[in-house]
Amino acid sequence: MMTSRMLEQTPGITRQQLQDITVTILSDGYLEGTFALLNGIETDHAEALLRANGVSPLPSMNINACVVETAGHTILIDSGTGTPDGASGELPAALAAAGIDPLSIDTILLTHGHRDHIGGLAGPLQTPLFSNVQRLLGNEKGSLLIWGDIVHFPPIQIARPEVSIAYDRDPALAAKTRSALLDRVATDDISVCGMHFNLPTTAKLSRSGKSYALHYAM
Ligand SMILES: [Zn+2]
Repeated sequence: MMTSRMLEQTPGITRQQLQDITVTILSDGYLEGTFALLNGIETDHAEALLRANGVSPLPSMNINACVVETAGHTILIDSGTGTPDGASGELPAALAAAGIDPLSIDTILLTHGHRDHIGGLAGPLQTPLFSNVQRLLGNEKGSLLIWGDIVHFPPIQIARPEVSIAYDRDPALAAKTRSALLDRVATDDISVCGMHFNLPTTAKLSRSGKSYALHYAM
C-alpha cells in the first residue's frame, strides 16, 4: 500500500512546491566523461574548480530529470538514459522512490534529443513534444527555469562560461548563449533546475565580473 507523500528529501530526490505546482527533481545517475571534451580549460584547473565547489574532481556528468505535477497534468521533463548500467538508467527506481506512478504521467517534455535525455522513452511513455527550455510560472516569485545542456560540468562552466564542450555544435555561439542566460538568471534571481547539475535540485546564481557561482538549494 502506498503511503501519502511528504515534502521530504532523500539523496536522489528533491521535491519543491511552487504555488500549486509540485516539482520533483530526480537523479538518473551519471555518465562517465573526460575533461578532454572541454575546450578552453586545462585539466588541473577543471579539477580545482570542481574541488572548490565541493564535488568530486572526476569527469562524470550527473543526469537529472523532473516531474511537474499541476492540477491537471503530470509532466515528465527528460527521461535519463534508459539503460540501467550501474551508472545511469536509475530514473524508474527514482520515480518509485518518489512515489510517482509512471502511468500517471500524461505529458513528456524533452529539453533536446541527446541519449541521456531521451533514452528512457523506449517504452510506453513515448509522447514526443520537443522544446529547448521549459519555463514555469514566468518571472514571478516562485518561478523555475529548467534547462538541459546549458552546462555539463556546472562548477566549471558556470565559473567560466567560455568553456565549451564537444557536444556544443557551435562553441562560440554556445558560450555566448550560456553567458547571456547566466546573466539573466543572476540578474533576475531566478531559480534554475539543470539536467546536469551535480545534485537533483534547484540552484541560484551569483555573479562576480564575467564569472558566476552556483548555490544549490540543498
Ligand atoms: Zn545532456
